[in-house]
Amino acid sequence: MIQSGRNKYGALEAGGTKMVCAVGYDDGRILEKVSIPTLEPDKTIPEIIGFFRDKNISALGVASFGPVDLDKTSPTYGYITSTPKKGWGNYPLVSALKEALNVPVGFDTDVNGALLGEVTFGSSKGITDAIYITIGTGIGGGVMTNGKLLHGMMHPELGHMLLRPEEDDKFKGVCPFHGNCFEGLASGPAIEKRWGEKAEKLYDRDEVWELEAFYIGQAIANLIMTLSPKRIILGGGVMHQSKLFPLIREAVKKNLNGYIRTPLLEKLDEYIVTASLGDDQGIMGCIKLAAGEM
Ligand code: ADP
Ligand code: ZN
Repeated sequence: MIQSGRNKYGALEAGGTKMVCAVGYDDGRILEKVSIPTLEPDKTIPEIIGFFRDKNISALGVASFGPVDLDKTSPTYGYITSTPKKGWGNYPLVSALKEALNVPVGFDTDVNGALLGEVTFGSSKGITDAIYITIGTGIGGGVMTNGKLLHGMMHPELGHMLLRPEEDDKFKGVCPFHGNCFEGLASGPAIEKRWGEKAEKLYDRDEVWELEAFYIGQAIANLIMTLSPKRIILGGGVMHQSKLFPLIREAVKKNLNGYIRTPLLEKLDEYIVTASLGDDQGIMGCIKLAAGEM
């Protein structure tokens, strides 16, 4: 058996604006980390390969923006599929890295990666049924049930769930596919478009955060009722507004309206929590994905 801490692993958190590359051990220690801007693949992939090439890694874990193909039996497994991001649509991310680096590659969505980091190394360590939601430029979520990351037919796209608009809310939403889905109503760009100012500048406008919590709370209530998680972790730029947390918990309670009664829901401040690993949950999840390939 391989002793913990012996093997060095590569981690790649592939985002639409930056590629974070790191090397670490499976006990969560990160030795080195760099950030590379996401340009087109022919510029960015060689840089990523250049970073990992002489690092002596045993395996690589990749958590990517998407949509991605996670079906190992599919001819396009490991591809970024239908993204509008120039050059990355239908791009074989896993095989490009695997062929160049000649190591096993673990692969999942960016949000499943972040969730895996949190339940492996973060304050939700050991929890087998959890959801990680990021609320930033977009909204996405990773889901773990019975200790397994949920893929299913593709992977969850819970940022695009449809929500019931607040009575007086006439905002059409910013999602190019659905208008006023969760992401269309509550992402950072949605807040900016609705209120005419960047979300971080609106910190003292109570009505902004009450409406934001109305939608996040509704989405979380839907997730509780459909997936029955034991913990919900919230990350992303918008969640830097820590005043959202009590408002969200209140909105969740209101939406559930006493229908679901469990001991976990009685302690909502331990049930709905903030991401705990700073900006490193994705990278640390990638380390775990890499170790899983050994
Ligand atoms: P990305 O989703 O691109 O990885 P972030 O998670 O940082 O990046 O999300 C960026 C979004 O978060 C932007 O729309 C920005 O306006 C919003 N944001 C960043 N910081 C804050 C803050 N302190 N309060 C509210 N919104 C914020
Ligand atoms: Zn949508």
